[in-house]
Amino acid sequence: MMRRAVFLDRDGTINPDSGYIDSPEKISLFPAARSGLRLLYQHNYLLFVVTNQSGVGRGYFPESALEPIHRKLSSEIEREGAKLTEIVYCPHHPDDRCECRKPSPYLVFRLADRYEIDLAGSFFIGDKISDILTGKNAGCGSILLAEHSQLPGLREMKEWLEPDYIAPDLHQAARWIVGEGSVEESNQ
Ligand SMILES: [Mg+2]
Ligand SMILES: [Zn+2]
Repeated sequence: MMRRAVFLDRDGTINPDSGYIDSPEKISLFPAARSGLRLLYQHNYLLFVVTNQSGVGRGYFPESALEPIHRKLSSEIEREGAKLTEIVYCPHHPDDRCECRKPSPYLVFRLADRYEIDLAGSFFIGDKISDILTGKNAGCGSILLAEHSQLPGLREMKEWLEPDYIAPDLHQAARWIVGEGSVEESNQ
């Protein structure tokens, strides 16, 4: 049976985007990510992180630095009663013209093949335009995370970006996905 999934950006979506994160000490979950991921997991969504980590390609830190960071991220999420199925990343420099850097859907397609995922019933959540485009390129629903204060400007952007939903944080995004949330402030 095809499974449904939620693909998540990492920095600025699950954890604060504090520049190029090169050690486990520098990563911590947003409170809204803790409850949001738990809610999605309880509703049987497979959870994946899909992240661009160009700090590797730029030479800011070695690719081997990502493993302990992602081990901490996974264990913190498990402590919240959820589980990441896999974390995948593009380590390349933007100028490398690789096939995996978001907004390319390459990594999402690879996961969809491996785990037999129904992409049309799945979602991509992120805080950047490239995340929304990745979701669209992969044929998923797309949710943009934006603070309430940013929402007026984003409403203007919505006409061309067209995310399926705009949420202030991962908890509200998860509530919308599982159908519990109100939709005020979304696509009005
Ligand atoms: Mg981000
Ligand atoms: Zn890449």
